[in-house]
Amino acid sequence: EGNLMAGKRGVVMGVANQNSIAWGISQQLAAQGAEIAFTYQGESLERRVRPLVESIGMDTMIPADVTDDASMDAAFAAIKEKWGTIDFLVHSIAFAGKEELQGSMVANTTREGFRRAMDISVFSFIDSARRASELMPDGGSMICMTYLGAERVIPSYNVMGVAKAALEASTRYAARDLGPQGIRVNAISAGAMRTLSLAGIKGSKSLMSTGKDMSLLKENTRMEGVAGSALYLLSDLGHSVTGEVLHVDAGFHVVGVPEPSEE
Ligand code: NAD
Repeated sequence: EGNLMAGKRGVVMGVANQNSIAWGISQQLAAQGAEIAFTYQGESLERRVRPLVESIGMDTMIPADVTDDASMDAAFAAIKEKWGTIDFLVHSIAFAGKEELQGSMVANTTREGFRRAMDISVFSFIDSARRASELMPDGGSMICMTYLGAERVIPSYNVMGVAKAALEASTRYAARDLGPQGIRVNAISAGAMRTLSLAGIKGSKSLMSTGKDMSLLKENTRMEGVAGSALYLLSDLGHSVTGEVLHVDAGFHVVGVPEPSEE
């Protein structure tokens, strides 16, 4: 517990259940004194998200489907109505169909699948950044969640890797556009973590075990590291850091070739 986020208010988008990265981040921010408004995908998730939100003494929950302009208009209007201004935004949302998250990227990426992955996983960040920035007259900080599949080829990750590359580029352009307004924009590139989204990727088990075996720390990415990095970027500790992609993956991203097994 501390006060690194005391007096700061913000929006967290993307809590689906207790394993969500957005939830790990939220707990850390709340423990440091942040006030959080949560947006969630829709009615079917409310039952699972409400007890979490209440467990940290918060009560602002707003449905927001990022593919629906009216829903996004209403969500940000509600936040403006509640607080007037905000200090931070956490975007922790992505989607691609099961059909796309396996086998050949070339063979399995349809026009509709591509459009949907890019809309939900990339445009939604640009759109949310614009909406949130309008509520940040005194500056602020935003983060989104990305993965190594943006930079390297990862089995089954396919069109989501393409989307994450676009998300990382969007982070840099948003940082350029919003910098003069004192808003920092960064991405956290987390290693594989056991969540609902990961389960949608074919072979996700081996993604976890390879991540562990090949990482420099010989462990899977821990939520406390991801949440701590979010805290750093969203609090005043992160002053002067913008347009960055911060890897929080036990060092997996720097490995070229795995160590040879003992002869
Ligand atoms: P998660 O399933 O808990 O979170 C994904 C969230 O996206 C859910 O809350 C879901 O409701 C939301 N979402 C999907 N479509 C939506 C829509 N149309 N409108 C509103 N919300 C929508 O899984 P997670 O692993 O916590 O994923 C969060 C972020 O972290 C994603 O961007 C993901 O790509 C990224 N990430 C995950 C890992 C991992 O290994 N789990 C690693 C690196 C990055």
